[in-house]
Amino acid sequence: MTFHPERFLILLVDDVQDNLDMTSLMLEQAGYSTIKAISGQQALEQAYSNSPDLILLDLMMPEMNGLEACEVLKTDTQTSDIPVIFVTASNEHEHLLQAFNLGAVDYITKPFDHFELLLRIKTHLELKQVRDQLKQALAEVEKVAATDELTGIANRRYLLELAAKEFERAKRYRRSLALVMIDIDHFKMVNDNYGHQVGDLVLQKMASAAVTTLRRGDTLGRFGGEEFIALLPETALPEAQEVAERLRQTIANLAIAVSSKHSLQITVSLGLSIYLPADATLDAIITRADAALYVAKAEGRNQVVSLTGNEIAR
Ligand code: GH3
Ligand code: MG
Ligand code: MG
Repeated sequence: MTFHPERFLILLVDDVQDNLDMTSLMLEQAGYSTIKAISGQQALEQAYSNSPDLILLDLMMPEMNGLEACEVLKTDTQTSDIPVIFVTASNEHEHLLQAFNLGAVDYITKPFDHFELLLRIKTHLELKQVRDQLKQALAEVEKVAATDELTGIANRRYLLELAAKEFERAKRYRRSLALVMIDIDHFKMVNDNYGHQVGDLVLQKMASAAVTTLRRGDTLGRFGGEEFIALLPETALPEAQEVAERLRQTIANLAIAVSSKHSLQITVSLGLSIYLPADATLDAIITRADAALYVAKAEGRNQVVSLTGNEIAR
């Protein structure tokens, strides 16, 4: 990995302007960008608004000293990952333990050797770069692990994980929760008549249309094959029925272009269930949604059927 000092912004904090100017000049000559703060308070503001990659923090300053500033920086998630190197006088070493406890990564004693300071800065910037890359890679992996490859919506694993959380929340706080099981009607015929690739396209178009129909806070996931689940937190039966009906209509009205001349239309059957206080697990809700879906299929497809307890509603 090549190191590019010009890509890094370093915040210098010192209550003596001459010190700031001197260090700044040295770092700029080494290729870094710098910003300066003359007090602890100013340091916090600069750190917050400019997100520097590293902070060189004077330990002794009037009003807010370096330790206090560091403590604030480390408690705010927006600034807590910025490495802090303390600049101390040799008679201030008793504070170093405290500095490290507060989250400092290193210290350097005044008057410092320029070469040594540059080395330490480079080391900590490289470490931060690796940490940031790891964090980003982890976020990407997590995203991939939660996404259905074909449709780009939540996959079964993520959907069920989320649904289990929503179930616990509904149970603990006595909130409403609705779940809609969606299954494409006669989808096998799409594959048989147009081929598997068109079938895939239909799944993609259907999923994106369904997503745009849902409200913020709702989640659509691919449960398997051509079966989807819409998870509707904080939604009671009448509202859930409206959402399900809107999904049905949106999908029925979708014209999916399969060639320059032809487009095809599909319908879905939907089984709706809501969380009931007697439900011990998420499975109970899913089982009812499944049973409702089964009724919707049996009664002619392209319709919404709700099952609340033993009550069937159409
Ligand atoms: P019903 O109205 O009763 O739901 O009939 P159906 O034909 O939709 O149901 P069935 O369960 O018999 O068939 C589902 C079909 O979905 C069979 C399977 O090949 C197809 N399928 C499942 N996953 C995919 C996929 O990722 N891509 C494509 N193209 N087809 C898929
Ligand atoms: Mg089907
Ligand atoms: Mg099916």
